[in-house]
Amino acid sequence: MERKIVYSAIQASGIPSLGNYLGALKNWSKMQDNYDCIFSVADLHSLTVRREPALLKKISRNMFLLLLAMGLDPQKNIIYFQSHVHEHCTLAWILNCCTYMGELNRMTQFKDKSQKHSDNINAGLFTYPVLMAADILLYDADFVPIGADQKQHIEICRDIAQRFNKIYGDTFKLPEPIINKNGARIMNLQQPDKKMSKSETSGTIFLFDEPNEIMNKVKRAVTDSDNKIIYSQDKPGISNLLNIYCSAKNISIEQAQNFFADKNYGQFKTIVAQAIIELIDPIQKKYKELAQNKDYIDKLIKIGMEKASNIAYKKLDKVKRKVGLVKHL
Ligand code: ATP
Ligand code: MG
Repeated sequence: MERKIVYSAIQASGIPSLGNYLGALKNWSKMQDNYDCIFSVADLHSLTVRREPALLKKISRNMFLLLLAMGLDPQKNIIYFQSHVHEHCTLAWILNCCTYMGELNRMTQFKDKSQKHSDNINAGLFTYPVLMAADILLYDADFVPIGADQKQHIEICRDIAQRFNKIYGDTFKLPEPIINKNGARIMNLQQPDKKMSKSETSGTIFLFDEPNEIMNKVKRAVTDSDNKIIYSQDKPGISNLLNIYCSAKNISIEQAQNFFADKNYGQFKTIVAQAIIELIDPIQKKYKELAQNKDYIDKLIKIGMEKASNIAYKKLDKVKRKVGLVKHL
């Protein structure tokens, strides 16, 4: 039987956060044995926010290394930089012409990021979901493992694909999101009503944080004063830490609540921090090892580009024919 295709990407917008790992990246590693997986460093998406060029370059490469460090096998998966496969931009343009301004206007990420970067509300930020749709549709993905914040972008991707198929005939597969039960939405430790983001420094745990930094960040996490370790809407700080713990340990909320029943907040935070440190430690070790081997990484970057381009070229060719662009000789 043919294997299903998985596609996902992460922006090169900072050091990945614990939210990225528990919400999306952890799933990527789990899927590599049973699916044909394609993973990208979405460096073009990162341009929607103004960045220092040298830093972007560094962050992008670090991200590639980190994907390998967390256990993605470059033989089994296609791992590549979005900007190395120019078909993404061409397809995004074609899909832009099948997407309504009204649809894009409803995207909560656009609203959030416009508020955060009010001095640079650029067209790229607005059409971000269309480029994301192009990423996914180019590879005929069946599944897209993501955090809950990206669900709306998969919905619009499906709408665009369906519209295209209706106008031009069956071309695109409709992808399904895969969202974890635990860890789908890790919240900022300082503002537990806001999602944790790698592009924000306060309240975020980064995958490169040292153990003592992790301990301090968790100890400073905003909670409440009633000293009950239970999962509840009225206790966003405690619920977030419980969620992190469950996701790191692969246990249910009930199991965690029972385990912490006789603990106070101080003990609870120490145990949660230790669980995070244990989770991240092997990734950091592997990362340091890989960072020594530049030639090997360069080779993998090239192989990833070639494999991805091969698929993307064929798909874009089909799309161009469907919409009536003259075939180049
Ligand atoms: P940025 O702030 O630059 O948008 P980000 O932390 O949101 O960075 P992305 O690169 O946009 O990271 O997203 C990569 C993946 O991580 C996506 O699948 C996204 O849904 C997931 N993700 C992001 N933040 C969280 C979070 N707080 N909890 C769970 N998953 C998350
Ligand atoms: Mg994001």
